[in-house]
Amino acid sequence: MEPVNIIGAGLAGSEAAWQIARMGVPVILHEMRPQVETFAHKTGDCAEMVCSNSFRSDDDVMNAVGQLHWEMRQAGGLIMAMADRHRLPAGGALAVDREAFAAAVTRTLQDEPLITIRPGEVADLPDAGNWIVATGPLTSDRLAGSIRGLTGTDALAFFDAIAPIVHADTIDMSIAWEQSRYDKGETEAEQKAYINCPMNRDEYEAFIDALLAAEKTEFHEGETAGYFDGCLPIEVMAERGRETLRHGPMKPVGLTNAHKPQEKAYAVVQLRRDNALGTLYNIVGFQTKMKYGAQTQVFRMIPGLQNAGFARLGGIHRNSFLNSPTLLDDRMRLRPAPHLRFAGQVTGVEGYVESAAMGLLAGRMAGAQALGRDLAPPPFTTAMGALVNHITGGAEAKTFQPMNVNFGLFPPLPEMRGGRRGRKDRYPAYTQRAKDDYAAWLAAQ
Ligand SMILES: Cc1cc2nc3c(=O)[nH]c(=O)nc-3n(C[C@H](O)[C@H](O)[C@H](O)COP(=O)(O)OP(=O)(O)OC[C@H]3O[C@@H](n4cnc5c(N)ncnc54)[C@H](O)[C@@H]3O)c2cc1C
Repeated sequence: MEPVNIIGAGLAGSEAAWQIARMGVPVILHEMRPQVETFAHKTGDCAEMVCSNSFRSDDDVMNAVGQLHWEMRQAGGLIMAMADRHRLPAGGALAVDREAFAAAVTRTLQDEPLITIRPGEVADLPDAGNWIVATGPLTSDRLAGSIRGLTGTDALAFFDAIAPIVHADTIDMSIAWEQSRYDKGETEAEQKAYINCPMNRDEYEAFIDALLAAEKTEFHEGETAGYFDGCLPIEVMAERGRETLRHGPMKPVGLTNAHKPQEKAYAVVQLRRDNALGTLYNIVGFQTKMKYGAQTQVFRMIPGLQNAGFARLGGIHRNSFLNSPTLLDDRMRLRPAPHLRFAGQVTGVEGYVESAAMGLLAGRMAGAQALGRDLAPPPFTTAMGALVNHITGGAEAKTFQPMNVNFGLFPPLPEMRGGRRGRKDRYPAYTQRAKDDYAAWLAAQ
């Protein structure tokens, strides 16, 4: 049988290889480390965790990432099995002994007769076969060049400059209002495409003070900051002058406060819809290097966002990722070259768990293909399905930025109470629905 080739033995590639071998299909797993290094990896092991040692919450009732753990365990996932084996005490989080974990993943893959680990960098995309590209946020420059050659230069980003994303039902609409600048757009939906949060002068000054004082993260060694010109963090804009933001992303022109039409705002923060469901909004132009704790405090100073729940916070990182909503089909295949599947962080998911989950899915899809079958993605009521649906079409392609799994990606339950108070009942309902639908999807394979 023709093997499936996987480029990259990180979290995604390792899980994909395991799933394919479990289906009885041979795999060649190409890994460039340790011959070619990245600035973040320290070893030649498979599935090295480059920064924190946490797979985040293991609560599969109240937390979307915990639900994703559950789904991966149900599918016999290697990453979860080895994480469970090398678990460290960490309250409700799944933290692991990173060295023992990566060594165990590596050994298990080496011991599997259907898997061949082939050392060395793959510099060019192949023309034919059944391939998975799982080269992660630090995809080698030569392969990135080859991907760009196939997809176009704008289709593979090298940095993510992420603006924070807010759960729509936590925005206080008695303060904020819907309106596009100058009411632009043909339809009413377009004329109301943005949510606007007004600030008076005192609020603006206090916000600038907080931005300037907030704790910031440093760049990793080896990470360049050359993107700064195109995409300044808001705190750097504020450092350039107290008025800079008011003439940039916070300019108040072309907007009328629907609650107080006579009052002219001194500055306005705009949020733009981030998914087709309308459950997530990003804060326009608010990429930042502030630390996470500081971000929550500073952004909740924005009138209307005082109770905001964040689906993800902002950041700026070295990160290679595809514009997946335009490039990948729902089988995770590259539209212009369907012999190539993509998996892991390079598809625009964010985090160890999400990357491994996309490896699991791409692996099963590629394995099914090798066996002459077709595997559809899980329903988007499941954590895995919600995530793959987001990257392959649910997300806005123009503003696409890497995404963690979160309940904002799940189809809403209209009969349940919204807002922060409703979570107690809503989240268990989401995860129960996910478990039922995921089990049915697995059973049908
Ligand atoms: C500095 C940094 C810190 C991070 N911190 C966290 C964190 O704390 N928590 C978290 O959840 N996520 C974190 N992430 C994101 C993290 O990288 C991903 O969550 C996860 O590792 C992605 O899994 P992956 O399999 O897609 O990529 P990786 O795990 O990076 O695996 C990709 C593999 O492909 C190999 N490769 C690349 N190019 C080639 C090539 N041409 N040929 C052969 N092999 C190749 C690489 O050597 C690597 O082994 C961080 C990322 C970075 C860059």
